[in-house]
Amino acid sequence: MPQATDWADVRVVGIPRALLFYRFGVLWTTFFEGIGRTVVVSEPTDKAIADAGEHRSVDECCLASKVFIGHVESLVGRCDAVFVPCYPTDDHRAGFCTKFQSVTDMVKSTFRDQHLRVISCEVRNARKMKDVRRPFEEMAARMGVSPRDARAAFKSAWEAQEAHDKAQADAQIRRMRALDERRRAAAGGDGAADEPLGILVVAHPYITHDPYMSSAVTDALADMGATVLYADAVDHERAYKKSFEFSDTMPWLINRELIGAILMFEDHIDGIVLISAFPCGPDSMTDDAIMRCIQGKPILNLMIDAQSGTAGVETRVESFVDILRFQQKGGYVHA
Ligand code: SF4
Repeated sequence: MPQATDWADVRVVGIPRALLFYRFGVLWTTFFEGIGRTVVVSEPTDKAIADAGEHRSVDECCLASKVFIGHVESLVGRCDAVFVPCYPTDDHRAGFCTKFQSVTDMVKSTFRDQHLRVISCEVRNARKMKDVRRPFEEMAARMGVSPRDARAAFKSAWEAQEAHDKAQADAQIRRMRALDERRRAAAGGDGAADEPLGILVVAHPYITHDPYMSSAVTDALADMGATVLYADAVDHERAYKKSFEFSDTMPWLINRELIGAILMFEDHIDGIVLISAFPCGPDSMTDDAIMRCIQGKPILNLMIDAQSGTAGVETRVESFVDILRFQQKGGYVHA
């Protein structure tokens, strides 16, 4: 049977700057550009985008998925079709929360009155290159692209994403080493200066790296002189494998990687800040497990929602840092 090419007329592809864009966005944009398409990525999240998503979503949706819907709305009329991939899973430990299985249908349904065109593909195992390549090649075929061109575009896209991830992980290792070095120097000094403070921010990348969601937290940490490390900016494969030291059974790929990163960095940090988007189901389970099982590191657990003002968050971050600094100087408990 000949392959349908019903998406061949899609020349401009819109990509919402939200959810897994922060994890796979380099792969997605490089792939579409590689098959000769123009890519329009929505603008960074602002209040108008967040409010639009809130307005179109049901209350039960998490803040991150509401923001995603706002980004989709911002692309209406700016592209021929919006790319909304679906990530169901055969292995719960390498999968994503249910939002990523339903998001394609959710977008089609939400924007049915605008007749928004959606192109998609179904990735069943994001960790395995061949399991990602096949659906992308199938999607390209529907866009009228030859198998040879699709394969070449995918190869470039996969390599670009790997290079991007490696650069992020390498930069983080350099920050961690600099922190260790400053700590050693402070230990050998006269004690007059504050010791450096390393804080690991643990959150889904679409929370951590979306300034609208988390800059109140990360800016407050930086303003108080802390070195901020990010649990998602690591060698993902290594973090995933490390997570099995914590749990054999815990589901959700990103949550596993975040936990693996905590184990990789715990000897180099002074405290952990967990940030989750209300009412995230996976985080409610894994954050609780982290707080119960990670011993010896103070943990601040923050939940952000659409109503969050920044003042409350900043006050909690400042109190947390003050406590860590006080602890460095001898603390509340003396031997
Ligand atoms: S993992 Fe949590 S924050 Fe992310 S989409 Fe699912 S419910 Fe929302």
